[in-house]
Amino acid sequence: MNKRISSPKVMRDVIRRHQFTLKKSLGQNFLVDENILKHIVEAAELKEDSYVLEIGPGAGALTRFLSGKAEKVIAVEIDRRLEPILKETLQGHDNVSVHFGDVLKIDLEEVIAEECPEGVPITVVANLPYYVTTPILMKLLTGGLHIQTIVVMVQKEVASRLEAGPGQKSYGSLSIAVQYMADPKIIMTVPKTVFVPQPNVDSAVIKLAVRTERKVNVRDETFFFRLVRASFAQRRKTLINNLMSNLYSKDRKGELLSVLHALDINPERRGETLTIAEFARLSDALLEHVT
Ligand code: SAM
Repeated sequence: MNKRISSPKVMRDVIRRHQFTLKKSLGQNFLVDENILKHIVEAAELKEDSYVLEIGPGAGALTRFLSGKAEKVIAVEIDRRLEPILKETLQGHDNVSVHFGDVLKIDLEEVIAEECPEGVPITVVANLPYYVTTPILMKLLTGGLHIQTIVVMVQKEVASRLEAGPGQKSYGSLSIAVQYMADPKIIMTVPKTVFVPQPNVDSAVIKLAVRTERKVNVRDETFFFRLVRASFAQRRKTLINNLMSNLYSKDRKGELLSVLHALDINPERRGETLTIAEFARLSDALLEHVT
């Protein structure tokens, strides 16, 4: 297949010939804009020896671009009905290996071990299915995989949440969970019009540079994230009220207040004003004094 599948006309033609029906429930909005595909691939800064993991190759538009820029592309697609289409669109792209399965269930460590030399850094590039953006990012960031960079198209509003800092409207537990492990940067916003079919929301491409070290050191990660979630549970409530409603019983208020004062964190602040470093200090101090 030499024709560019990144053109809307060719994409529609391929879909029609294969009598493929797009499933909204699987987030099947295929990208049909060559420029945007190029920008995504450029943002990934691939080299000839790069190993790429693509989630959801769809009809293969992005996959073809990646294939030309990398040593190998490992693609994980949930929908086996796309197999004949991918066979056609990826003909001659011998460095692409497609695995059919749910990326949330598949053992990615095993797939990567099977496909890549040991210890090689992985770049993830994908136009993500929006209904599972957060669990996919969490799996990529916490799965113990050797992922160096993630460049993904996500819903615009989610991209803002991933990038937001303290005091910003979109700042929340997702911002902290991601920034704990990676440095995010929005590359570009993308209009609905470049997809077939058009989604209801605008999109953005975001790049996550995965750090080798966590942003902050905490004694107990599970507790740290419980604290963060509790602090954002009701955004309009003060920190102390959120902690009292979601993490501690009423009789611990005195202890809580003295920990906050000792850390110089005003209990009347809202969770959304605390930095990751403040959450880390608070998490360690609470573990020590209020357990
Ligand atoms: N990469 C293609 C493109 O840019 O045109 C398709 C992107 S489309 C937004 C998302 C793709 O992810 C679809 O092909 C869909 O079938 C696939 N997908 C949805 N859920 C998935 C999952 N849990 N695991 C793997 N692939 C999934």
